[in-house]
Amino acid sequence: MTQDLAGFAKERGIKYFMISFTDLFGAQRAKLVPSQAIADMQKEGAGFAGFAAWLDLTPAHPDLFAIPDASSVIQLPWKPEVAWVAADCMMEDEPVAQAPRVVLKKLVAEAAEHGLRVKTGVEAEFFLISADGEAISDQYDTAEKPCYDQQALMRRYDVIAEICDHMLALGWKPYQNDHEDANGQFEMNWEFDDALVTADKHSFFKFMVKSVAEKHGLRATFMPKPFKGLTGNGCHAHISVWDIDGKVNAFADKDMPFGLSTKGKTFLGGIMKHASALAAITNPTVNSYKRINAPRTVSGATWAPNTVTWTGNNRTHMVRVPGPGRFELRLPDGAVNPYLLQAIIIAAGLSGLKSNAEPGPHHDIDMYRDGHTVKDAPRLPLNLLDALRAFEQDEVLKAALGSDFSDAYIKLKHDEWNSFCGHFTAWERQMTLDI
Ligand code: ADP
Ligand code: MG
Ligand code: MG
Ligand code: MG
Ligand code: MG
Repeated sequence: MTQDLAGFAKERGIKYFMISFTDLFGAQRAKLVPSQAIADMQKEGAGFAGFAAWLDLTPAHPDLFAIPDASSVIQLPWKPEVAWVAADCMMEDEPVAQAPRVVLKKLVAEAAEHGLRVKTGVEAEFFLISADGEAISDQYDTAEKPCYDQQALMRRYDVIAEICDHMLALGWKPYQNDHEDANGQFEMNWEFDDALVTADKHSFFKFMVKSVAEKHGLRATFMPKPFKGLTGNGCHAHISVWDIDGKVNAFADKDMPFGLSTKGKTFLGGIMKHASALAAITNPTVNSYKRINAPRTVSGATWAPNTVTWTGNNRTHMVRVPGPGRFELRLPDGAVNPYLLQAIIIAAGLSGLKSNAEPGPHHDIDMYRDGHTVKDAPRLPLNLLDALRAFEQDEVLKAALGSDFSDAYIKLKHDEWNSFCGHFTAWERQMTLDI
């Protein structure tokens, strides 16, 4: 594990470091620092005016310093003279409690206090679109059921294989790439890891996919629902919890239903109990709610949940238990902040463990067809405002993430909602002009 960035630069021939932090809305902000200056920067951090990013700060606040976490450093496979390193935000020698990577580290430490280590894998779906963002980049990618389309996948071989080669070189153990359920949509999978490592990889993956797509004259988008009528970009999370050494999967119990131990079931119970509130984090944009609760897509199914239900190996529910010792949360979308995704999973799951929360009955039905027959399951929030209000009322989640973070997030997201509501749409004109 890298400790000394100056030494890393010398060894690898690195000329510049991107010292990168992620703000509340998931935007990555960086300074490009020459290697000659990295030794000091590693100690002091790179300075930023925090108000200029999506953080609840004012222009009068002191400088924010992003201190690189050397253990996260990655040499850019497509530009080896540059390295990316995730940073933690500090102000006046204190961690900035609202900063997402700080929030996640606190929750990882809390899990460790319980002797637990949360490991996750994410499926960050994306579309390859034209550089102007208007249309799917491949004009021949028009099948009604485009999932696993061999021909369309191979027309984008140059992009997909380049990204996968990079993941192989980085030792991420990628194992499959496919064309997903929407025209122009792809998914690439690599092996799960500790929550913080997965969050850093998830951030870097988004940066890498966008960079390689741009190199090819394209654009990659993780937007939850970029095209009406087509399946949206999910970001499913597969979750398991291990002993502190990471050797024994505490979720696995072959004698229990679905192979899920009591720990696994109560962790799941926490996720189920807090689902509507945690949607404010896992589905953080106005557009997110056009993916969940959506009408059937052209392909036949949205593959996104609309209700708080769980099941075995069945992809029509919010939670699927695909096999023993883990479960899949299918709620998050491509707009999710990689650090807050992991943080909210640990926050909700730990609260479930501590309170022995029951996940409730499992429903082994086709939710898209027969969902109306389930009477006891809440609907997921219908829009961002509903989700924000549910989060605002969830004292357990707010406390687990910390009041500094929760207050800041609620404030900035309400501002975003209000900005959306201030927009005049073509739809309301059409519906109201002649009333
Ligand atoms: P899906 O069937 O949902 O499309 P994928 O193969 O696309 O599944 O993604 C599965 C993800 O789950 C991968 O990142 C994989 O490494 C991860 N995963 C597998 N086992 C576990 C586990 N025990 N704990 C956490 N993540 C896991
Ligand atoms: Mg300046
Ligand atoms: Mg998948
Ligand atoms: Mg998928
Ligand atoms: Mg999945």
